[in-house]
Amino acid sequence: MSRTVDVVVIGAGIAGVSVAYDLAVRHEVGSVVMVDPRPPLTLTSDKSTECYRNWWPNRPMVDLMSRSIDLLEKMATESGNVFGLNRRGYLFVTADEERFRRMVEDAHHTSTLGAGPVRFHPGPLPYRPSPREGFAGAPEGVDLLVGGDMVVEHFPYITPAAVGALHVRRAGWFSAQQLGAWMLDQARSHGLELVVDEVVGIESGGGSVRQVNLAGDGPIETPVVVNAAGPMAGPVAAMAGLDLPLYSELHLKVACRDHLRVVPREAPMIIWSDPQQLDWADEEREALSAEGRDDLLGELPVFCHGRPEGGSDSPYLLGLWEYHGIVEEPVWPLPADPLYPEVVLRGLTTMVPGLSAYRERLPQATVDGGYYTKTRENRPLIGPAGPSGFHLLVGFSGFGVMVAAGAADLLARHVVGSELPDYAEAFLLTRYDDPEYLSAISGPVSSGQL
Ligand SMILES: Cc1cc2nc3c(=O)[nH]c(=O)nc-3n(C[C@H](O)[C@H](O)[C@H](O)COP(=O)(O)OP(=O)(O)OC[C@H]3O[C@@H](n4cnc5c(N)ncnc54)[C@H](O)[C@@H]3O)c2cc1C
Repeated sequence: MSRTVDVVVIGAGIAGVSVAYDLAVRHEVGSVVMVDPRPPLTLTSDKSTECYRNWWPNRPMVDLMSRSIDLLEKMATESGNVFGLNRRGYLFVTADEERFRRMVEDAHHTSTLGAGPVRFHPGPLPYRPSPREGFAGAPEGVDLLVGGDMVVEHFPYITPAAVGALHVRRAGWFSAQQLGAWMLDQARSHGLELVVDEVVGIESGGGSVRQVNLAGDGPIETPVVVNAAGPMAGPVAAMAGLDLPLYSELHLKVACRDHLRVVPREAPMIIWSDPQQLDWADEEREALSAEGRDDLLGELPVFCHGRPEGGSDSPYLLGLWEYHGIVEEPVWPLPADPLYPEVVLRGLTTMVPGLSAYRERLPQATVDGGYYTKTRENRPLIGPAGPSGFHLLVGFSGFGVMVAAGAADLLARHVVGSELPDYAEAFLLTRYDDPEYLSAISGPVSSGQL
């Protein structure tokens, strides 16, 4: 037997939960149903590093992320900050003078996009450390620490080989799980219904969506369907006759016990911004080569990064480094790399020499991860596409938890027909109909998304 509702959201990751919240709570849409065969937030959205920043290389992304962070701060205030939003910042560190010069140039460019002021240290204003908890009163923009002495003065655990660092200030992290649980509670009390099932078909008629078909239960008739299916966004869009320009990259993450507290609990997100070669001993090199791991012997890419996880009593350190470069159709369980914890820890040791204490005996470590499902220019797809009533909230790449609030706000405006912000068009699928846009993004695909 079928039934009729106002909106069906496909997928209960952070994208789906955020838009369900916006529709049910902020716009008071009568009947919103969210369909997912899995418990909410358990595919990709609980594997994230949960970090956020307003620092992006183009205006639409700066505008969208700034809106998202405004909304995150609003929800943090409303909820008593149940999801622990902090403003520790992202610290990009380099030991290469030329790279630091480029970081300074890029900082000026990003500042002109509306991401906040640039301050140099030493300089006229003192450097202000980040608050350990919360976000009130923290500076905006970016602080550039010029010279290794400056970096080590403020971050004594960073290598003296550093020649400079860029501290992005409207940035930090929060618990996406807690935020999602809070939004779900609110949305449920405004009538959101969760259906544990898989969408297996989308039917249209007269150019408009009409119903979604489920694997288990009867169909649901609806004039509005939101595709928030994360790594399965492509197959779900295909059910509505759409071919999306998305691909998926594998990204792993390790959580290890830093029981010696080498990385202080109040540290920001720390990012080594240079490529590097790991200093394997001769016998280790031979063993790796014999195991077919020559990929670990040469130069490895930029952006080995990490941050402390949990409160002051927690010993956990998160570490990430995407040296695999694996692009594939999403599969679970994820392809394993037994050497990942050791490689990431060694990579982080270049930036934080004290971590060499773990070289002989690796700390206890757990690896998880998921897929960055993205467009080639790493910009999400948000808005109507295909048959009337069908909407995209996809391509959340490595920024899904930070963008979800802003993206859901934008999509909900499309759905209910309220006023759209200036940046709305930049996120539509129709951007690919513009030859100028296509030519602007036609260069090599940039890697290096954290
Ligand atoms: C290692 C790692 C680190 C990351 N770090 C960060 C970070 O620091 N900051 C940040 O902002 N982002 C980060 N991300 C990215 C972020 O986690 C993702 O962008 C985000 O979780 C994607 O959310 P989603 O809701 O789109 O997808 P998902 O969380 O994958 O949810 C999609 C849901 O759709 C459901 N679904 C699929 N097909 C169907 C169907 N046919 N019917 C019904 N349901 C369906 C799935 O079951 C799933 O529950 C990271 C990701 C990884 C892997």
